Amino acid sequence: MSPREKRPILEPWPIEALPGEGFRKRQIAHWIYKRGAREFDEMTDLPRALRRELEEAWRVSEFDLVQAFPSADGSVKYLFTLKDGKQTEAVYLPYKDRKTVCLSSQVGCPVGCTFCATGALGFGRNLTPWEILDQLLAIAHHQGLAPTEIRNVVLMGMGEPLLNLEAVSTAVRRMIDKNALGMSPRRITLSTVGIPKGIRRLAEEDLGVKLALSLHAPDDETRRKIIPTAKAYPVEAIMDAVADYFKKTKRRVTFEYVMLKGINDAPWQAREVARLIKGRRIVAHVNLIPFNPWEGAPVEGTPREGIRRFARVLEEEGIPTTVRWSRGVDVGAACGQLALKEVGPLAFHPRR
Ligand code: SF4
Repeated sequence: MSPREKRPILEPWPIEALPGEGFRKRQIAHWIYKRGAREFDEMTDLPRALRRELEEAWRVSEFDLVQAFPSADGSVKYLFTLKDGKQTEAVYLPYKDRKTVCLSSQVGCPVGCTFCATGALGFGRNLTPWEILDQLLAIAHHQGLAPTEIRNVVLMGMGEPLLNLEAVSTAVRRMIDKNALGMSPRRITLSTVGIPKGIRRLAEEDLGVKLALSLHAPDDETRRKIIPTAKAYPVEAIMDAVADYFKKTKRRVTFEYVMLKGINDAPWQAREVARLIKGRRIVAHVNLIPFNPWEGAPVEGTPREGIRRFARVLEEEGIPTTVRWSRGVDVGAACGQLALKEVGPLAFHPRR
């Protein structure tokens, strides 16, 4: 390892912890967060000597390698190789009116859902706050955007965010901080498989972010078949915690529901989803997700007509429902698919 690679990360948060006088600290933070600099050399209004000093002592990015996999539909999947050689993933999703990134909170995932490629990878480790935030900064840089142009974040990539809540909260605070990215918490969504204690802790953190619950089945028997941790957390207990989160934040809750043939797609299950939501007066929205097959997956997706029928039952029950047709299928949109396969880079963008 060269001495340059051994440099510690300069974490520009809180701003006061940065090197130099107050004015210089603000300049450095501005370059990293608002202008997306990945090298001290790019910070052209800093004196040359200071830039050299910073360059020798620190590095800005957490990643050894960033590989980009563009999809025909405009989304781009990113595979990040971390300093310890482990890998994690994120997705850039440009829409007409907004640019969204889907970030990971862990390497792999300890939950092990049967339908999920990340679950099949097993658990690597928790990501640090800077490794979480740096995914956004690296994507912005690669897309030629200022980091502040990305206004929507979903924590729905690899991992269960509530099992790494401390790091996730710190990363989110940096996204929200006006001196850092200055994002609106309403535009940040944390997606969880449902850990009641974690949902309550998230409410206590008072970050104001939106909650998405990966429900995937309304009954314990089915849920336990597809989500191993569901054995420890009955649906009713999860829904009570979600209702408390809704009461505290008044933010509409999204329910994610991956459609699996013959497992969770019966009309009675749609009615049961509606009962769980309506019984607790949660303002909610259900996202039906067609299953995105991956090699070796032990489950099959519900055909289109079955998905439409399920959506109709929910609508009849008064629950706003959309079907989220996947993007990036041609480059492995299901989380974990890139890291699961040995892939060659279509484009790479190393930064140290
Ligand atoms: S669906 Fe989410 S919680 Fe389940 S294994 Fe995949 S990443 Fe983990």
